[in-house]
Amino acid sequence: MRYAPSPTGHLHIGNARTALFNYLFARHYNGTMVLRIEDTDTKRNIADGEKSQIDNLHWLGIDWDEGPDKGGDFGPYRQSERKDIYHKYIQELVAKGDAYESYKTEEELQADRDAQKAAHEAPHYVYEYEGLTEAEKQAKIAEAKAKGLKPVIRFHIPADHTYEWNDIVKGDISIDGNTIGGDFVIEKADGMPTYNFAVVIDDHLMQISHVLRGDDHIANTPKQMAIYEAFGWQPPVFGHMTLIINGATGKKLSKRDESVLQFIEQYKELGYLPDAMFNFITLLGWSPKGEDEIFTRKEFIKLFDETRLSKSPARFDQKKLEWVNNQYIKKTDPNELTALAVDNLIESGRLAKDPDPSTIEWARQLISLYIPQMSYTGQISDLATIFFEQPKELDEKDMKELADDNALQVLKLTQEKLRALPTFSAYYINQAVYHVRLETGVKGRKLYMPVRIATTREMHGPQLAETIELMGREKVLANMDYVIN
Ligand code: GLU
Repeated sequence: MRYAPSPTGHLHIGNARTALFNYLFARHYNGTMVLRIEDTDTKRNIADGEKSQIDNLHWLGIDWDEGPDKGGDFGPYRQSERKDIYHKYIQELVAKGDAYESYKTEEELQADRDAQKAAHEAPHYVYEYEGLTEAEKQAKIAEAKAKGLKPVIRFHIPADHTYEWNDIVKGDISIDGNTIGGDFVIEKADGMPTYNFAVVIDDHLMQISHVLRGDDHIANTPKQMAIYEAFGWQPPVFGHMTLIINGATGKKLSKRDESVLQFIEQYKELGYLPDAMFNFITLLGWSPKGEDEIFTRKEFIKLFDETRLSKSPARFDQKKLEWVNNQYIKKTDPNELTALAVDNLIESGRLAKDPDPSTIEWARQLISLYIPQMSYTGQISDLATIFFEQPKELDEKDMKELADDNALQVLKLTQEKLRALPTFSAYYINQAVYHVRLETGVKGRKLYMPVRIATTREMHGPQLAETIELMGREKVLANMDYVIN
């Protein structure tokens, strides 16, 4: 198996999924996982694209056995370093008559496309040496060369040939070779191979047995099969995974869709946990038997079954991702969460840089308090505003809760007891509220809502006594003063 990113951008959710399924497949069957960098489109490569892909894959917990950073028997693993290898195979095809130099200019190609459009034909390359004798062909080539034109090399696609394969995901697929656009470019004018050529050479030489990739590549597969045939090689088994759709809109998840964060790095920055992301992505277009959805990496490797890759589009559901992450937050060592959350609190200006140990301990308690409702650790700055900002003004809803006849009495008594507590801890705070209940006879919502609003100015929040403890006596009493007076 292999994951073959083009370093033209950061790791996208869709590519991460491709990497992940290839990884699970390889690990499940004790196969080999290869990372290959497909960097032949030099204009589109971004600086640090390869590093960013590798870092993000590592963050997700995906590893490989061979790759540019690891070496291996079939390297180099960067296509830009394999130019000579491709060139040799291209020459072989040219010598056999399966490929040829093409001098059609962009203008000529455009003119062909315009004519085809006018004739309601699908765009396709028109053979430029049609009907010419060998001598005429050579003369035409010499003329182009004299003009200083640089050729591309086109692969000669055999006429009337059907390409068929049994796709791991989609089942039997059959594509008429006459519909794939004619002879296609395998080497560009700058000597770089095109994707469709390099991928065949590499998958063959690197002994790749199975290829799982997005179904946007289905149209490429017959071209690649044609090249395998020309060399007399066995193609790998292909599986084309369905696209991912935005669960909220039902539309294909495109990089332009700004309603969903689509790069792994963005989730990392928000404090999502790598194991949770791994879990969530594995469920995008794949599911194990049964209802359970939370599994460890090891379990996923054991459970992986390529026949359960879904035939229908995978829905990217933000709420589900948040739920999955929360499941992992609940299982994660609080110190690890604290480290993530403290970073976020510093970044958002809630905490000063280089917090001392007592601040970190306080932050640890703050995180623990919010774990039940936290979708990702980076949310802490927004969830815990009552700890950092001036309490909000009372609104109509708060006033309604406070309008109860007993509310004022309850608050005064609670404040008195909180002021007098020997130790300002959740345990004693609960005791105090319990005694207010006994002394006033007020209980349930009528007791807790006024206390919650007066102490925190929020109607909802984490466990009340723990919140009050962490806010500290001074702030709590002052907050209550405002409501009582
Ligand atoms: N570099 C290609 C891409 O990023 C890989 C396609 C393939 O897996 O064959 O889409």
